[in-house]
Amino acid sequence: MREIVLATRNPGKLAEMGEIAAEYGIRLLPLPDAVALPPETGTTYLENARTKARAGFAATGRPVLADDSGIEVDFLSGSPGVYSARFSGEGATDASNNALLLARLGDTRRRSGRYRAVLVLTSSEGEWTAQDVWEGEILKESRGQGGFGYDPLFFVPELGLTAAELSRIEKSRHSHRGKALRRLLSLLAESGA
Ligand code: IMP
Repeated sequence: MREIVLATRNPGKLAEMGEIAAEYGIRLLPLPDAVALPPETGTTYLENARTKARAGFAATGRPVLADDSGIEVDFLSGSPGVYSARFSGEGATDASNNALLLARLGDTRRRSGRYRAVLVLTSSEGEWTAQDVWEGEILKESRGQGGFGYDPLFFVPELGLTAAELSRIEKSRHSHRGKALRRLLSLLAESGA
């Protein structure tokens, strides 16, 4: 499998995941504009990622990789999780989501959480899945300009930086999505597909 279509409309994800795939001799291609992505209506990351990968494969006939991810905050019993993108409701933005997260956490000292990513690759040869997490803490104020989503609030203790303070290469080395992708591509290589 030398070329895989990535089922996303996010060019940042294509760039970030494309760099990792290249390490495995694989080229990630954008999803053709004509192919509609199904809405993320599932109640698990796996359901959402699988629905996107299968829809992409059905439409293109090519191997398709899809991901779903979110942030799980312990003080909020794992919320917002699979609902991270729409945490603050219809029309949510990164800013409104981050503001709500800060409001929900208030002054609590229990600020641990993790990003989780689940990936599914669907092809005529079968289906592969992998997941990974990135542990961190939610700061009380934003730090850094890089990344997206909750990154300015997501502090990684062993690096002493937020995800938004990392370069794209550093982020993909440590991130939930980067690690899950390496895991999945290793499984694929082992399978001989
Ligand atoms: P999706 O996997 O693109 O549907 O992303 C789900 C949501 O989880 C995003 O909109 C972000 O709010 C959050 N999220 C997932 N991964 C990251 C990340 O690497 N940084 C910041 N936020 C993330």
